[in-house]
Amino acid sequence: MNYRSTRDTSLSLTAAETIARGLSREGGLFVPESVPQIDANFLTQLSAMNYAERSAAVMKLYLSDFTADELLEYTKAAYANFSTESAAPLHRLDEKTSFMELWHGPTCAFKDIALQILPYLLTASLRKTNESKKVCILVATSGDTGKAALEGFRDVEDTAILVFYPRDGVSDVQKLQMQSQQGNNVSVCGVEGNFDDAQTGVKQIFSDPVFASELAARGWFLSSANSINWGRLLPQIVYYISAYCDLLNEGKIHNGEEISFCVPTGNFGDILAGFYAKQMGLPVKRLICASNSNDVLTEFFHTGTYNRNRPFFTTVSPSMDILISSNLERLLFEVSGKDAGYITSLMTALKNDGCYSVTPEVKEKLDKLFRAGCCDENNTKAQIGSVWADHQYLMDTHTAVAHNVLEQYRREEVSQEQVVVVSTASPFKFCGAVLEGLSHPGTGDGLSEIAELEALTGVSAPAPLAALRNAKVRFSESVEKEQMETVVSDFLR
Ligand SMILES: *Cc1c(COP(=O)(O)O)cnc(C)c1O
Repeated sequence: MNYRSTRDTSLSLTAAETIARGLSREGGLFVPESVPQIDANFLTQLSAMNYAERSAAVMKLYLSDFTADELLEYTKAAYANFSTESAAPLHRLDEKTSFMELWHGPTCAFKDIALQILPYLLTASLRKTNESKKVCILVATSGDTGKAALEGFRDVEDTAILVFYPRDGVSDVQKLQMQSQQGNNVSVCGVEGNFDDAQTGVKQIFSDPVFASELAARGWFLSSANSINWGRLLPQIVYYISAYCDLLNEGKIHNGEEISFCVPTGNFGDILAGFYAKQMGLPVKRLICASNSNDVLTEFFHTGTYNRNRPFFTTVSPSMDILISSNLERLLFEVSGKDAGYITSLMTALKNDGCYSVTPEVKEKLDKLFRAGCCDENNTKAQIGSVWADHQYLMDTHTAVAHNVLEQYRREEVSQEQVVVVSTASPFKFCGAVLEGLSHPGTGDGLSEIAELEALTGVSAPAPLAALRNAKVRFSESVEKEQMETVVSDFLR
């Protein structure tokens, strides 16, 4: 199984080369040359397995240059760090609705599912491609990715990781999670400015050839851990298939029956993994794309026009505050008949005009599978309150957006299928907004709000967040954007 780029289909790379390289040189994203197929038999077999075994079996279909034993070793190690038996357990809300809780890993957000295993896949890929330099992972984060990447790569041999976060743009809990990071190969640094400043700074460092050769001379190269890397997307395909197996085991569906997923979406990585699961043959009726007030994707699925020329809102679901959803490029490639020229023209229009429209044929294909909706801040909080009142189930802000959009979907069309709402973070990561949703505004201090939310609901905070009470700050530095390259250089000295 080889991979090619969405903007240059003449390329053909092995899985190891694809993961080692991350992004294709001409700016395209890597996609599998063909999508492996699964059937009812495969689903029956998987249903008898635990999560690590399911993950190895599914990933093996895409990683033909890895052995089954290798993959099982990685998945077992990665998912042993989760507090639940399955890394993606279902919580049943009512007869037709479950939440798939993807946040029982070390940093309490769904990024752990991929970032706990990416270090294994990446270091193995570097070995398989005979790379002799060590890799430094450089991350600009709006909160969840940075911490998950730090936990994934801490003390991994021949790697280092450096995370930049906007000094005033992450929650108290998120900041302390990063500043107190343990490990001997890690560093964390604040940037004066917002997420875009941090992101732009990191992109400039990546595209500086002089700096790259200076680092190469010292035995280092830079790589990224965000969801443009296939190695981060692939582990996410697994939980869609795993959820189906769990519903089979619960006796809620028969093998072959279609189900739907509702996904809180930002960069379009999570829901794209669901699309690949459907392409593999998983019986999926709809993928429902849920957005917050940054509703660029809702408009796109409704009209066929993607337009980033709009106000940017900072919301209580910050991991979905995004105007350019990078992974949409992979979806458009797949539904346009793998037309790299067409994708290049759309992405050029996006870069130059901030806007593009897809052809009626592409729009029609999207309409068959996708639905989309959005939910503003007040409705997000109200959703947290009503689900707590009706079911005593506590949701975070991102999950609440998705659940609200699911209710809209069920009002708009007749649908009897089982729906799985993808739950992406622990409510204790966003205590302030969750407390407001429960009509008990907190003190405004992130750490004491964890205790307030516990006291109010009787629900315990996940251990890694509760432990922040005693966390010691190791990294308190912050710099101007212009100094970021110096920070990297000093770190790798
Ligand atoms: C990253 C993130 C999302 C969005 O996922 P994408 O793959 O970027 O669409 C949603 N919720 C939470 C909590 C996240 O951390």
